[in-house]
Amino acid sequence: MLLTSLLIIALLLPLFLLFTPTTSNKLYFRHGPVSSAKTLNLLSVAHSYRSQNKTVLLLKPSLDTRFGNATIKSRSGLEKTADFMIEDTTDLLVDLQKPKELHCILVDEVQFLSPHHISQLRHITSLWSVPIICYGLRTDFRTRLFPGSKRLLELADNIEEIKTTCYGCNRKALFNLKHVDGVAVVDGPSVQLGCEESYFPTCFTCYKKALTQADTEFPSD
Ligand SMILES: [Zn+2]
Repeated sequence: MLLTSLLIIALLLPLFLLFTPTTSNKLYFRHGPVSSAKTLNLLSVAHSYRSQNKTVLLLKPSLDTRFGNATIKSRSGLEKTADFMIEDTTDLLVDLQKPKELHCILVDEVQFLSPHHISQLRHITSLWSVPIICYGLRTDFRTRLFPGSKRLLELADNIEEIKTTCYGCNRKALFNLKHVDGVAVVDGPSVQLGCEESYFPTCFTCYKKALTQADTEFPSD
């Protein structure tokens, strides 16, 4: 009986392995509102790989130049230098060179990438048999999906939420509330030169309350 069972397992094992999805070429989208430690999470994953002598590539859009062009910096103070900057004109399938050994690609501030770049990352996971983990915001301060984040929601194998609490209460934060010179806003350009901008993770209730206090409507359809 035991021998028969072992024989069945031995016969079925190759089939099982054949149809078990590999984890090596998955596209991940880890999203969360501002101040949810996304970059800290990314740097921690990079550290884990590198402490095992594994190779990771750190990518970021050139649009994000808050901490110096190629710096990936967490609010906690930890930072690393990006290996590759993605410009608007970058063709990832041509310009990104695969190292001899590569175990993972990590992308910071992925919401600033175009849908086209996201599609290219999807292809690279398959062409290079490598996992790509993207970190970024799901929606902007108007509660709208970033185009790159929308494409990731459509194409990612794995969508994971990085949670944080609302700055105004103890609920889970969902939105990114924008203040310009201390006043909550839902319109205007993404970057307003000459103004002091700040962003806060908020729940729906606190987001709506802040807009009401600023005499501003919740974004409509
Ligand atoms: Zn709240």
